[in-house]
Amino acid sequence: MRGAVSKKCGQSGRDRFGIRKAEFGKRNSESGIWKAEFGKRNLESGIWKAEFGKRNLESGIWKAEFGIWKAEFGKRNLESGIWKAEIGKRKAEIKNQRSKIKKSKLAMQVPFALGYILTQPFGANPLDYARFGLDGHEGLDLIPQGNDKKVYAVESGVVIQDVDDPVQGKAYGIHVVIYAPVNRRLWTYAHLAENYVKTGERVLRGQPIGLMGATGNARGAHLHLGLRTADSNGNPINLPNGFKGFVDPTATLNQLNGLEQAAWDRANAAQPWMPVNNTAALWRFAQANGLQDQQTDEISFTYNGEPYITQAFNKGIVYVKVGDWGNIKFIPK
Ligand SMILES: [Zn+2]
Repeated sequence: MRGAVSKKCGQSGRDRFGIRKAEFGKRNSESGIWKAEFGKRNLESGIWKAEFGKRNLESGIWKAEFGIWKAEFGKRNLESGIWKAEIGKRKAEIKNQRSKIKKSKLAMQVPFALGYILTQPFGANPLDYARFGLDGHEGLDLIPQGNDKKVYAVESGVVIQDVDDPVQGKAYGIHVVIYAPVNRRLWTYAHLAENYVKTGERVLRGQPIGLMGATGNARGAHLHLGLRTADSNGNPINLPNGFKGFVDPTATLNQLNGLEQAAWDRANAAQPWMPVNNTAALWRFAQANGLQDQQTDEISFTYNGEPYITQAFNKGIVYVKVGDWGNIKFIPK
């Protein structure tokens, strides 16, 4: 029993040792696996660290790029601000120009750009004018509102008289007479410092024709504006009316600056037109040939690629090639 027990015990101790060895081997093996695992993890950690370093570097690069972008964006904002300021400045300039144009058009109250002040009405001071054989002042004395001293035509027409010598002009000094054939009106602009037009020249309403002055019989600078009614040849009628044919221009001037100015603006806005012949060659031809009143304005047309102008009168139609003013043709009605 004892032997059996000891044998049993001896066998048992050896077995246990074997088991422990096996266990140790197993543990060693596990340890090796763990070490391998640990090494693997270390390697992975190293790879991760490298990756992290790389990402950090990339992040640094991104941050640097972001900084550049921010700087660029700031620069663009600044540029945008400069552009906005520039655009604002241009807009203001355009607005200013437009308001100037609008102002000059809307406020055009001829014979001055921005309206006038009456300093002596028609028929005034009969005693002063008796020595000229007149019943009183034979026109309107006007001075401009604002600083523009230029004199503007009150009605379109043809210059039939321009006197540049103040002595030759006598009481009227430097002066201009413009005939508006459609309405048979003769306009006298007197006491000018200078006139800008020549006899035979066609002028448009609102065109500057001279500069206000005090030439001739004038006390202080002003414009003397005279109006006479004419026959179809441009000669004044009703001469023995006490004012040598002159009549009060007030009503006509108000009409020209009121309803007619509105119609003029409308027509100009619808179809811009321009004087194609500043010397009014067709009109003078018609006058010289007794064709009576004009029925249309000058009308431009093209034939075989060449520019012509034509105009209708009571007795027929005249036409001329632009530039060939000495060769006007006539088609009788
Ligand atoms: Zn006067």
